[in-house]
Amino acid sequence: MKSVTVIGAGAAGIMAAYWAAKGGASVTLFEGSTTPGKKILVSGGGRCNVLPQQSSVKDFHTQGSKNLVKRWFKSWSLADIRQFFEDDLSIPLIDEEDGKVFPKSGKSREIRDALLNSAIEAGVILKQSFRVEDLSPYLEKGAVILATGGRSVPKTGSDGKGYGLCKDLGHSLVTPYPALVPLWNQEADFQSLSGLSLPVQWQARTPQGKILDQGRRDLLFTHKGFSGPAILDASHWVTREQAELFVNWGEKNAAEWEKLLLHESGTITPLLQEHLPRRLAKTLLRRVAIPPDLNLAQLDKVRRKELIRKITECPLNITADAGWNAAEVTGGGIPLSEVNPASFESRCQPNLFLCGEILDCTGRLGGYNFLWAWVSARLAGTASAQEQKED
Ligand SMILES: Cc1cc2nc3c(=O)[nH]c(=O)nc-3n(C[C@H](O)[C@H](O)[C@H](O)COP(=O)(O)OP(=O)(O)OC[C@H]3O[C@@H](n4cnc5c(N)ncnc54)[C@H](O)[C@@H]3O)c2cc1C
Repeated sequence: MKSVTVIGAGAAGIMAAYWAAKGGASVTLFEGSTTPGKKILVSGGGRCNVLPQQSSVKDFHTQGSKNLVKRWFKSWSLADIRQFFEDDLSIPLIDEEDGKVFPKSGKSREIRDALLNSAIEAGVILKQSFRVEDLSPYLEKGAVILATGGRSVPKTGSDGKGYGLCKDLGHSLVTPYPALVPLWNQEADFQSLSGLSLPVQWQARTPQGKILDQGRRDLLFTHKGFSGPAILDASHWVTREQAELFVNWGEKNAAEWEKLLLHESGTITPLLQEHLPRRLAKTLLRRVAIPPDLNLAQLDKVRRKELIRKITECPLNITADAGWNAAEVTGGGIPLSEVNPASFESRCQPNLFLCGEILDCTGRLGGYNFLWAWVSARLAGTASAQEQKED
C-alpha cells in the first residue's frame, strides 16, 4: 500500500483524506493546529452552512476557467453530496431561508466530528499539532495533498503557508485578497445606525459606472460600516476590483418614489417610514437637509430628486475592508490552470495534489465555499490514491 500525506485538516483536507483512504491508500493527515476543522466549527455562526440548496457557476469567483469549475461541480452533484452527509455520515440536514442547508442539530461540531470519524474509520491516521514546513520528505514517500486553506482568520491555522510551499515548487499565485469581508465607512450618521438590518438591492460599479454585479440580500449597519449577506457578497468587487457600491434602501425604484412624493399628501416623515426603517428614513432626510415635518406640498424639485437619489442609489463610500481576521474566505490563490483538471494534480510537481481554499476559487455567501472544498477534495483524494496504485 502506497502512502498519501494530506497537509491541513480543514474541510478539504479531511474530505480528501477520507476519499484517499477509501481509494485504498495509507493516509496520514497532518494538522498544524491543536484542533482539526476549526473553520468548520466556527462556520455559519457555529451551525455550519454545509451546502447551498442550489448552485451555478455564477456563484463562484475565479480568474481561471469557469467551464472547468462547472465540470468539477458536475462530478459530485449537490443531491449526491447531500446524500453523502445524510446517509453515509448519518447527519440529517435541513433547508433554511436564503437557500442555505444546515445540519438539523444546528451544531457544526456534528459535521466536523462525523467527517473526521469517518476518515479515521476508513484508516486515516491523524497527527495534530504538527505543522509541515517542507514537502520534500513526504513527496519522496508518495503522494501529497496540500489542503492548507487560504489566509483568512489566521488564528484558525490557515495563514497562507501553503502558498509559499507551492511557490517553492514553481507555482504562481493569483494575489490573495480578503473576501466575504465586512466593509468600513466613516460617515458618523451611518455608523450611528449600527445594529439596523434591512434588505437592500446592491450594485457594484466601476468608477466609470459599469455594473459589475448586483443582488438583493440583507445589509447590516455596524459601528464601523457595513456587514450582512449583501455586503459580504459585494465585498469581492470592492477588495478585488476597487468597485464602488450603491444601494437602493427600499423596494421601490426612482419612478415609483417620484410618483409617491408628488401625489401623496401630509408630512414627509410618515410617508418615508411606511417604506423604510424609521432611523434610516430620518438619516436620509437629514442628508438632504429636509425638515422631518416638511409638508409634501412644499418639497421642491431639487430636494425631491436629491432625496430619491439618496434612497434608490446611495453610494456607500467604502473606506477599507475589515481585513484578514474578519474575512470568511480568501479570494485568489493557486491558479486553476496549474492543476490537472481530471485529478487536481499539480502541473508543476508530480504527485502533489491541491484542493480547497488554497486554489483560486471562491464562492459567495451561502454554503458555496464548503461546496468547493467537498468537491475539489473528493476529486483530489480519489485521484491521489489511484495515482499510488498505478505507481
Ligand atoms: C467565520 C467563518 C464562517 C464560515 N462559514 C461558512 C459557512 O457557513 N459555509 C461555507 O460554505 N463556508 C463558510 N466559511 C468558509 C469555509 O470555512 C472555508 O472556505 C473552508 O473551511 C475552507 O476549507 P479548507 O480545508 O480549504 O481550508 P481551511 O478550513 O482553512 O483548513 C486548512 C487547514 O490547514 C491547516 N494548515 C495550514 N498550514 C499548515 C501546515 N503548514 N501544516 C499543517 N497544517 C496546516 C490549518 O491549520 C487548517 O486547519 C466560513 C469561514 C469563516 C472564517
